[in-house]
Amino acid sequence: MVTRTEPNIVITGTPGVGKTTHCEVLAERSGLRHLSINQIVKDKEAHEGWDDEFQSWVVDEDKLLDAMEDDVSKGGCILDWHACDLFPERWVDLVVVLRTDSTVLYDRLKSRNYPEAKLQENLDSEIMEVLLQEARDSYSEEIVVELKSDDSDQMETNIDRIEAWIKQWKEDHPEGHDGSS
Ligand code: ADP
Repeated sequence: MVTRTEPNIVITGTPGVGKTTHCEVLAERSGLRHLSINQIVKDKEAHEGWDDEFQSWVVDEDKLLDAMEDDVSKGGCILDWHACDLFPERWVDLVVVLRTDSTVLYDRLKSRNYPEAKLQENLDSEIMEVLLQEARDSYSEEIVVELKSDDSDQMETNIDRIEAWIKQWKEDHPEGHDGSS
């Protein structure tokens, strides 16, 4: 197993909660690498085609994980995606689930011109806490944190917290970590 000297962090949540925005700022401040899974799916063609109704790729998970393995096993990656249950536990040191008030989310998705079916599905998913549940079902509870992302003050606080967590992780793993425990 490869020892990593920097942690891997998953930032997940319903589309529109602020994953990309958080990941970009965090990558800039922490030096960790932002991996946009959507981009990898497109670039590596890790999909079985385009779903017109939901305007998204039908992901080939095995191909996607193979395409990510080399990068992620070295550590220091921020994984940005609207799902988290497919990433192996040994890869992941922290899972951040971003949450947004449904009226705020509605406005953000509306301004993206989402088709009605996709907009409604995402709002329902946020209200039903689908991603939070998925994270809790897939990883041990100590590594899953839920953070609010309604406004820029909350985002600043979130980034500060995650940066402090990264610093602590490095202090706790001076020799690195291979993800086995
Ligand atoms: P995601 O990657 O989860 O789909 P984005 O990061 O693309 O979400 O954010 C969607 C929109 O909402 C963007 O216009 C972004 O600027 C805005 N946004 C996201 N999070 C916040 C926040 N905490 N405060 C203010 N605006 C935000």
